[in-house]
Amino acid sequence: MDKEDVWQAVLAQVQLDISPANFATWFKGTEIISQKEGRVVISVPNSFAKEWLENKYGKTILKILHSLDEETKEAKYEVRKTGLKVTKKAAVPFLDAGQLEFQDFEIDKETNLNPRYTFENFVVGPFNELAQAASWAAAKNPGQVYNPLFVYGGVGLGKTHLLQAVGNEVVKNFSQKKIKYIPSEKFTSGVVSSIRNREVDNFRSKYQTIDVLIIDDIQFLAGKEKTQEEFFHTFNSLYEKNRQIILSSDRPPKAIPALAERLRSRFEGGMIADISYPDYETRIAILKAKCLERKTEMPEEILGYISSNVQRNIRELEGALNRLIAYQKLQNLTPDLEVTKSLLKSLVTAPNKTVTAKKIIETVACFYDLKEREIISLSRKKEIVKPRQIAMFLLREELKSSFPFIGRKFGGKDHTTAIHAYEKIAGEVNKDENFAEEIELIKQRVFSG
Ligand code: ADP
Ligand code: MG
Repeated sequence: MDKEDVWQAVLAQVQLDISPANFATWFKGTEIISQKEGRVVISVPNSFAKEWLENKYGKTILKILHSLDEETKEAKYEVRKTGLKVTKKAAVPFLDAGQLEFQDFEIDKETNLNPRYTFENFVVGPFNELAQAASWAAAKNPGQVYNPLFVYGGVGLGKTHLLQAVGNEVVKNFSQKKIKYIPSEKFTSGVVSSIRNREVDNFRSKYQTIDVLIIDDIQFLAGKEKTQEEFFHTFNSLYEKNRQIILSSDRPPKAIPALAERLRSRFEGGMIADISYPDYETRIAILKAKCLERKTEMPEEILGYISSNVQRNIRELEGALNRLIAYQKLQNLTPDLEVTKSLLKSLVTAPNKTVTAKKIIETVACFYDLKEREIISLSRKKEIVKPRQIAMFLLREELKSSFPFIGRKFGGKDHTTAIHAYEKIAGEVNKDENFAEEIELIKQRVFSG
């Protein structure tokens, strides 16, 4: 067996034992670089993966290696040379005692990039795999694949992190390329002031020289015609020159209201990748990664508690962990489950407080461009019946409302109507991927608004 085959065999076995999320996160980009005299050297992309593989999977890996070749007595992990520079940088944020947050990073004035956001500290799971892979490919071959790259997903799920990671990766690999990250509101205010100061040509020519243009939260261009026009101009001239364009939004292009058709079709002409919600396993993996970054440890039980209770927003997941780390540093004591519950009380109960039956009904109505009173009416019009059933479904699914309660909410219908609606929608969600995505989008709005 040559070293590639050996490593493939190891990966195949490891994969059986761990979740896809963990596998993708810790084993991606690993390989055997040498094996001799009973010692196997495995290269890993970053110090993160090194630590994790050594501590967590080291024994398993060695066991498998040994079973493949009895000579093997030792496995060593080495951070690949090309990754070394970033890894060093990424190692800076580690906490000094008493410091609670990440060390402040300096945002580059030219590119607007924050070196804190890298691929190395971006955890990959089934929920963001596609977006991560597409971003990685774009970072490695700017302008050559996936142009434009459009990443969408709800609040706090890693869009900015990923977009910035692309920028930082390009900086690292192509030092001569000019990169600019800009939130769309900032782009808008640039357009507005250039018009006011009669400097439109100036504004345009500034963007002409950019090799990688990253615009975050593009949904804020909705309804801003002048800005859209200017953006269209910039987009076209960069696109024609094969410059990379990367965009993010909280929804797919087709769901951005008041977006000029020609822009929409430009966005849809490239790669569209979504980020959905992280599953439990990935939430745990993210918390563990954050603990590692902060050079701290938390008991499994505590990480499990956070992951079970903070499900739909990675920023909040991190916020919860920060609170516990703060306590740990101040009290010099690791919080137990009781303490954790009380420290996280406001965070954990907050989402349920804000999501109400009213909120769900409002959101569904708005999504389908209906009035609230239409949705709760007795109308049998097809374009109303379906949204109504969706609202009923969400009430059951998200709030665990009883069927009689749901019936009453919708114009005093019988509970069997509610059951029928629930079952019908649940069935369709299972069968029709597009429909499932539609429901997912509505949920994201319910929870983020
Ligand atoms: P968005 O732009 O989608 O609102 P952000 O990119 O600002 O979300 O992410 C919110 C926080 O969660 C950031 O601190 C980011 O580092 C963290 N985060 C998001 N996704 C991941 C991930 N996959 N791995 C590690 N950290 C993540
Ligand atoms: Mg963001």
